Amino acid sequence: MLLTEIYLRILYFYPKHIERMKVEFTDDIYMKAALLEAIKGKDKGEVPVGAVVVCDNRIIARGHNLTETLNDPTAHAEMQAITAASSFLGGKYLDKCSLYVTLEPCTMCAGALFWSRIGRLVYGADDEKRGYTLNKNSVLHKKTTVVKGVLEKECRGIISDFFKTRRQNLTG
Ligand SMILES: [Zn+2]
Repeated sequence: MLLTEIYLRILYFYPKHIERMKVEFTDDIYMKAALLEAIKGKDKGEVPVGAVVVCDNRIIARGHNLTETLNDPTAHAEMQAITAASSFLGGKYLDKCSLYVTLEPCTMCAGALFWSRIGRLVYGADDEKRGYTLNKNSVLHKKTTVVKGVLEKECRGIISDFFKTRRQNLTG
């Protein structure tokens, strides 16, 4: 994880340098950045979900779940990332951007993604209990393309480990 983190930091601060290194900009790279965000959340005792927004191969916003820290049930990773990205771009539409999130968005976040007109949504693990795809009609904007299952194993692992540890702490 340490090497990945160093690598992602270089990518964030020196995108041109990375271009010269001929590193390919793949969904995996950005999902790793979202996983790093999830870890930041976990370190704060939050349910570990992380998100990043990418525009022109550059990460312009990051977010992780902050519902406990902020005492705010709407403080999901995607909401943080959408707000930060809009503020960075100085506009409310993210149609040229991709949002990467480790877990399938809930209906609230899918609704926010609708309003942002996000160009692309990429997520790792399905959320069988709260995922937006449980709705009969899609909540997303019709122009949004969706890719799922990117680093699915890692994305699922971080959240299932978290709940396993929490259950053990509660019962042990
Ligand atoms: Zn959500």
